[in-house]
Amino acid sequence: MYNIHRAAQRLNDFDSSVFQEVYRKQRALKNPVDLSVGLPEGGTPQYIKDAGIRAIQDGNTFYTPANGIAPLREAIAAKLKNENSITTSADDVTIVPGLTTGLLLVYLALLNPGDEVMIMDPSYPPYHYLAPLAEAVVKRIPTRHDFQLDLAAIEAGITPKTKLIVINTPNNPTGAVYPKEDLFALAEIAGKHNILIISDEMYESFIYEGSHFSIGSIYPNTITMNGFSKAYAMTGWRLGYITGPQEIIRTINQLQQYAVFCSSSIAQYAALEALSRPTIPRDSYVEKRRLVQEQLIAAGYDIQGNDGAYYTFFRVPEGMSDLDFIALCAENNLLLLPGRAFSRDETFVRLSYGGTIEDIKKGLEIITNISRQKK
Ligand code: PLP
Repeated sequence: MYNIHRAAQRLNDFDSSVFQEVYRKQRALKNPVDLSVGLPEGGTPQYIKDAGIRAIQDGNTFYTPANGIAPLREAIAAKLKNENSITTSADDVTIVPGLTTGLLLVYLALLNPGDEVMIMDPSYPPYHYLAPLAEAVVKRIPTRHDFQLDLAAIEAGITPKTKLIVINTPNNPTGAVYPKEDLFALAEIAGKHNILIISDEMYESFIYEGSHFSIGSIYPNTITMNGFSKAYAMTGWRLGYITGPQEIIRTINQLQQYAVFCSSSIAQYAALEALSRPTIPRDSYVEKRRLVQEQLIAAGYDIQGNDGAYYTFFRVPEGMSDLDFIALCAENNLLLLPGRAFSRDETFVRLSYGGTIEDIKKGLEIITNISRQKK
């Protein structure tokens, strides 16, 4: 009746058709073991909360420049230089209300109708849902069995219309961490075809095997995106940042001026304080990851990726779909996410071990019991 934009309508349709039944079952649960959401454990550290409260008390409660307050952009530029070997300046950093909104702004800044955005399958859902809002076409390139980049498939999938390649390491939902050599090879491919890379590095502080490498340190046509949601357990504060080619950052700033005006001033002052200390400790995640790997392997699952972030993406027992498995989990009071939210392959589920060790133990026991019955 209102002629909703078809890309927005697709979101409505997907949510209502695919997840309705699952959500109905999940909502009916009283006190579920929730291994579905990607929240880091423990909440925002107290010193960051204090800085937010101080910002309010000091009257830092007004619009800021569209690209954010200068000291925060300076601190981020220094962090990018020291930790990621990315050469940038405070002027070429822009603060956004969360990486996800930042992604929409990047897409709106760059994509013309018909442009192609290459994303990996599986990947974080906004990569493919937001691009059609800019009338762009999404091309999904399946990753390898170990969830690593399939460089040959990426190169083969490039057309004259390919404008962007989106990567995410450490990865949601697979936990894969891309090795430096592959990122060098990807930079070479992208360079040969003059393609921009978007690098989502949201989980850089959660790595258990290998190390983080920012492709933006070797490939200037990279838009590096990150934020405070996971590294500092600040998901609800809504704050992220972007750096990349000057002309693109300038355009994003222009868009921000009209679309959001600026990110929350309070969150910005809190984030400035956050950056003065290390990211939240990942020690507990090492143990939780070990437990998840050990028990899922013992239950007969083939565990790939899982070297970073706090997700495990595994294939459900044969003959079942992701939704069948999710429904069975819900009947046993456990929440997981269906793989089809991230992938065309509908036989995987995502388990998040961001929560407490008690919940993870309970969840693993439920999965083990279900698997015994099904195998
Ligand atoms: N990027 C990835 C890969 C994620 O998994 C998530 C959240 O789950 C985000 C970005 C969200 O970032 P933000 O909270 O800054 O929008």
